Amino acid sequence: MSRGTATDLVYLLAIIGFILALKALSSPRHARRGNLLGAAGMVIAVAWTFSEPSVYSHTRNLVLIVVAMVIGTAIGMPAARFVKMTAMPQMVACFNGVGGGAAALVSITEFIALSHKSIALYKVGEVLFGVVVGSVSLSGSAVAFAKLQELMTGRPVTYPGQQAVNAAIAVGIVGLVAAVVATASTPLLAVVLGLSLVLGVVFVLPVGGADTPVLISLLNSFTGLAVAASGFTLNSDLLIVAGTLVGASGMLLTRMMSAAMGRSLPNILFSAFGSVITAGTGPDAEGRTVRSGTPEDIAVLLAYARKVAIVPGYGLAVAQGQHAARELADALSGRGVEVYYAIHPVAGRMPGHMNVLLAEANVPYDQLEEMDQANLEMPTTDVALVVGANDTVNPAANNTPGSPIYGMPIVHADEAHNIVFLKRSMRPGFAGIDNELLYDPKTTMLFGDAKDSLTKLVAAVNAA
Ligand code: NDP
Repeated sequence: MSRGTATDLVYLLAIIGFILALKALSSPRHARRGNLLGAAGMVIAVAWTFSEPSVYSHTRNLVLIVVAMVIGTAIGMPAARFVKMTAMPQMVACFNGVGGGAAALVSITEFIALSHKSIALYKVGEVLFGVVVGSVSLSGSAVAFAKLQELMTGRPVTYPGQQAVNAAIAVGIVGLVAAVVATASTPLLAVVLGLSLVLGVVFVLPVGGADTPVLISLLNSFTGLAVAASGFTLNSDLLIVAGTLVGASGMLLTRMMSAAMGRSLPNILFSAFGSVITAGTGPDAEGRTVRSGTPEDIAVLLAYARKVAIVPGYGLAVAQGQHAARELADALSGRGVEVYYAIHPVAGRMPGHMNVLLAEANVPYDQLEEMDQANLEMPTTDVALVVGANDTVNPAANNTPGSPIYGMPIVHADEAHNIVFLKRSMRPGFAGIDNELLYDPKTTMLFGDAKDSLTKLVAAVNAA
């Protein structure tokens, strides 16, 4: 068998690993296996590349590759190992940005190598696509990281004429790309590179902090496309397929997240959602009253219920209350109460956030119910215990046309016989809008940090 055929076969094996990995990653049950399959595919691809004799023909290049791999591993492994679940979007932004930057660098190097030869125009086009999309992904991901890490404001940054300026930069890039194709000029390529980096920054600025995960998923898909473009440039089937897989799955994830929030992608990217806090003015803003209870009152309600739904949200993740939630569920189950978790697809700040968080606390999978299933059970549920969630249970999504979240599917906690909210104050959630459920006569508030409140509830249930 020739070396070329062997390479094709080995790369096919790696590609099969990537595809099976994506399939397994679609469920928390198999996600770990998916991760391993993806990593195995990557190990096969890298190992085979190192068996290529040409890699050893330039010692300096080999040294550079090994040094880069050592630095990457030294940063990547501890970052992935010690990252907190609430900081996952930032980490994905970082890794994604680096991927986009790498794809852009490959394209730049190839452009410089090719610009001395007479080459087909489409080849230059491929290279430029990699430079533009990779750079937008790099700088966009860097700003997304800064927003999520609170190195800058998480609120949308807007100014008059913003979208027109952004559109002008994008059009300018397209024009310059045409000029580079015609002239193969390296200085012009540098201008394209600079403008693409600027476009990445200005594209991300108007997106609100909590919408940033959707944006990261979109940028991730851009990185995939840039990698696929590098694959065409380098004639590497492996890169083309791997890049296309990332591009397509990133795009699908972006669409699914938008749908789960009941908002269109343009609305997320261009509407500066989350810039205004329209409510949260306190319990008596409209003469409404709020009922708050003690842990002991609520423990009695829970301990003598037949069925309890725990509805987790972003606040549970912030408070790291997943272990306390499980202890409470265990204490209730021990008393014969049926407990299930009602999981909204975008509860938290990432898709699948709640499943992963609860899996970390060894919550049994059969207690996790996806929103549609949970909503069927809600009318026969005695207590919906809403822990650090707000928008994802806000009935305004169903009954208030004109509300920013109108149309977002929600967990129908309002249909349970009793509702208990564990949150620190009357402040709104990410969407910045009032939640009438907090004032509902069947609602009891337990104010405080979610983890502390859950811990108090465990003690009170055990004592009840
Ligand atoms: P929300 O952001 O609506 O509400 C979270 C609530 O948690 C707040 O009202 C806050 O109230 C409370 N909270 C915060 N910290 C604590 C704490 N330490 N202890 C107790 N409570 C706390 O969260 P949801 O999960 O309901 O909704 C998620 C939102 O994020 C949705 O609007 C969704 O569209 C959006 N989003 C989700 C994405 C995803 O893929 N998951 C992606 C992008 C956006 P208080 O300050 O009073 O404590």
